[in-house]
Amino acid sequence: MDDYRLLIGGALVPGDMTMDVINPATEEVLAVCPRGSEAQLDAAVAAAKAAFPAWSRRSMQERRDLLLKLADAIEAKLESFARLLTQEQGKPLSESTAEIVYTSAFIRYLASLELESKLIEDNDNRRVEMRRRPLGVVGAIIPWNFPVLIVAFKMPLALLAGNTIVIKPAPTTPLTTLKLGELCAEIFPAGVINVITDQNDLGGKLTAHPDIAKISFTGSTETGKKVMASAASSIKRITLELGGNDAAIVLPDADPKTIAPGIFGAAMMNAGQVCLAVKRVYAHSSIYEELCAELARLADEAIVDDGLAQGAQIGPLQNKMQYEKVKGFLDDARAAGTIIAGGDVVDRPGYFIRPTIVRDVTDGTRIVDEEQFGPILPVIRYDDAEDALERANASPWGLGGSVWGRDRDTAYDIATRMDSGTVWINKHLDFGPNIPFGGAKQSGIGVEFAEEGLHEFTQVQIINEAR
Ligand code: NAD
Repeated sequence: MDDYRLLIGGALVPGDMTMDVINPATEEVLAVCPRGSEAQLDAAVAAAKAAFPAWSRRSMQERRDLLLKLADAIEAKLESFARLLTQEQGKPLSESTAEIVYTSAFIRYLASLELESKLIEDNDNRRVEMRRRPLGVVGAIIPWNFPVLIVAFKMPLALLAGNTIVIKPAPTTPLTTLKLGELCAEIFPAGVINVITDQNDLGGKLTAHPDIAKISFTGSTETGKKVMASAASSIKRITLELGGNDAAIVLPDADPKTIAPGIFGAAMMNAGQVCLAVKRVYAHSSIYEELCAELARLADEAIVDDGLAQGAQIGPLQNKMQYEKVKGFLDDARAAGTIIAGGDVVDRPGYFIRPTIVRDVTDGTRIVDEEQFGPILPVIRYDDAEDALERANASPWGLGGSVWGRDRDTAYDIATRMDSGTVWINKHLDFGPNIPFGGAKQSGIGVEFAEEGLHEFTQVQIINEAR
């Protein structure tokens, strides 16, 4: 079994405690992993605080160069990282490989951004300049669905702007992040990056910590509310990337055969455990039958297997708690509609659930109104596009959404009226480090990626000079 260490103040150290990490495809113990104590969390924050003055005084180019070195180091470990990620997270090896490739690509792109001062006024009366300063120590809290990539959403921008960071992965997926920490230990000055693990007991301590200036959180809306409340104690800056219940609205002029693979893929990637997955489909009556049949066919054909197995397309749910939750949604789907594909767990060890398509279901049921975060897709019939839009917008969430149809003007008009941070036309789940990403309503606060994301790791400072 491989060895894992926390990263605190530049040193790779054992945890004060240990915890088992389970392979969700076998339910066997994959590794005994260090578990951080509250004292170790305090030590990590103190190290990040001590490293901040020197790190923030370095030039952006120096900070950028180290981030680029990290991107190279991750690329060099592509195969071993991808394999470990599949073993701890469950996703097929092709998806893990893509996650690691994206991780270094995100670091590379985000490290290339610039933070420029802006001259607001310069005249006989006064010179007013707007600068952007780093905040201090950032706490990055990561969920279990994309444990490595989501680190790359936050860490490069935090560091490039001159902050230092404490990263806390989710308890069920800490291993690849700890390996990433090992690479960071070789590249960055002590204390600039710290990685600490927990059993869901240190997140709250991090958000309440007086020496943390900002929390960048990705996870559920429920936990996001706690983060927001806790951050109030010291007016911490927060970026929250939370849950979603993305609707795909399929217009009458869409061709079901052409679009079904795009919708199915965006619903079932990572066994549906994607914040921006399609989580409900509103399909016009005229194409409803055909679309349901196509989606069911794709679900029947999908290969559900251990992510390490050749050809696996859908892996297990990531952890037992989520597996039990999704089984509850299956029961609800059975009662609320007609299951036309899947509907069962797979009879083998591991948290496998077959991709499931539910039809004859409508709003007001759990499977439509809540975030299932699993491989179950409800398809809802509608007759009037305005009504479908209203129902899509009735959700408390507003992360992503999509409109599918041949007439561009109609699709565009509906897209602009969806209450979501991102809306796609004739696709779903396409994003990149140059495109700001954030949620409307209860899907979050603030944005990640691009200059807008970089700005969230800074404090505006005005220098106003007399002439
Ligand atoms: P979660 O909220 O249960 O956990 C997320 C992280 O928060 C974990 O590291 C956890 O240990 C930590 N945590 C737990 N209690 C905490 C507390 N009181 N204070 C601070 N941190 C605490 O989420 P999850 O189940 O790991 O992830 C699934 C959820 O994340 C889904 O709702 C999904 O939609 C959402 N998500 C959102 C995005 C996005 O960018 N919007 C991306 C991925 C996942």
